[in-house]
Amino acid sequence: MTEKCISCELTTDDIIKEYGQNAVEGGYYLEKGFLCEPCAEYDLSEPPLTVYHNREDIPKRIGHYISDYWLEGEEAPFSFEWVPTDAWRGHYETKHSDGLARIFDDSILSYHESEQMLKVLHDISLKAFDQADIDYYRVFSRTSNVFCTNLDIYIERAKEELGSEIVETAKKYVNYDDPVFSTGILFPRERPAEFELGNAEAVKEAKAKESVKRLVLEIGRELLEH
Ligand SMILES: [Zn+2]
Repeated sequence: MTEKCISCELTTDDIIKEYGQNAVEGGYYLEKGFLCEPCAEYDLSEPPLTVYHNREDIPKRIGHYISDYWLEGEEAPFSFEWVPTDAWRGHYETKHSDGLARIFDDSILSYHESEQMLKVLHDISLKAFDQADIDYYRVFSRTSNVFCTNLDIYIERAKEELGSEIVETAKKYVNYDDPVFSTGILFPRERPAEFELGNAEAVKEAKAKESVKRLVLEIGRELLEH
């Protein structure tokens, strides 16, 4: 019996001729049909979603056909949908399982002032989550622009309020709403703009418990001093 790969649409006979026996033997039988080994490898080489759980160094990739979760016999907590902007451009939108809540989403734009700010915001938030014993996921999703990646942060739904307070307070501390971070994108600036990251004064305005504000300030100061 000869069948076709659901991705490249070559028959197993042709796949063997082209790539050798292993390309079929290393393939997968999915609900939708057969996926050859080269296509499986390609699927995870530039996956729409890359997921980091807590402090894990090795992310789990989620491709169009398979994912590292699937390979490990687990159910992926995320899926995605391609959202086109026009015929050529668009981005992947992340969908999540019920037990999680999205508390942050933004685009990371390489070489823009906001990249540095987001890094500090990210580092402060993660440290605070660790200290508050919050379980979290960071989901990076691709866009059609190679310089732009979306970052979503999800936490366990039961701790949504505390997690949101941490992120909102950290946003104040890094001056997230400074227009410098939302301009100079469509029309690049001639030289990089100046900005300030440690705004302890602004933290007072955050809608958050005093204990959260103290935690963010403490972590933020420590981070910026190093
Ligand atoms: Zn294939």
